Amino acid sequence: MGITVPSKEVEVTRLFHSMPQYPLGHLERIKRIRQDVAQKLPGILLTGAGYGGIGIPDCVRQGKEAAQEITSYIG
Ligand SMILES: Cc1cc2nc3c(=O)[nH]c(=O)nc-3n(C[C@H](O)[C@H](O)[C@H](O)COP(=O)(O)OP(=O)(O)OC[C@H]3O[C@@H](n4cnc5c(N)ncnc54)[C@H](O)[C@@H]3O)c2cc1C
Repeated sequence: MGITVPSKEVEVTRLFHSMPQYPLGHLERIKRIRQDVAQKLPGILLTGAGYGGIGIPDCVRQGKEAAQEITSYIG
C-alpha cells in the first residue's frame, strides 16, 4: 500500500484451534471413516472443514456433494 510511516499501534489476534490442521494420512483416514459411517449409519454424511478442505469453496463443494448424495439416498 506504500505506507512508509511506522505504526502507532499494532494488534495481533491469534485464533487458536480455529481451523483444522490435517495430519499426514488425513485423506485415507477420512475415506475409511466415511466408509465405516456409510455402513453403520446409512444416511449420515460427514462434511465440512474437518473432512475435505477448509476453504469456503471446499466447504461449498462438499455441501453440494452431500446434498446430491442425500437426495439419491432418500430417493
Ligand atoms: C478467522 C477465519 C477466517 C477465515 N477466512 C477464510 C477466507 O478468507 N477464505 C476461505 O475460503 N476460508 C476462510 N476460513 C475458513 C472457512 O471459513 C471455514 O473453514 C469454513 O467456513 C468452515 O465451514 P464448515 O461448514 O465446515 O463449518 P462452520 O462454518 O464452522 O459451520 C459449522 C456450523 O455448525 C454449527 N454447530 C456446531 N456445533 C453444533 C451442534 N452441536 N449442533 C448444531 N449446530 C452446530 C455451528 O454453529 C456452525 O454454524 C476462515 C476461517 C476462520 C476461522
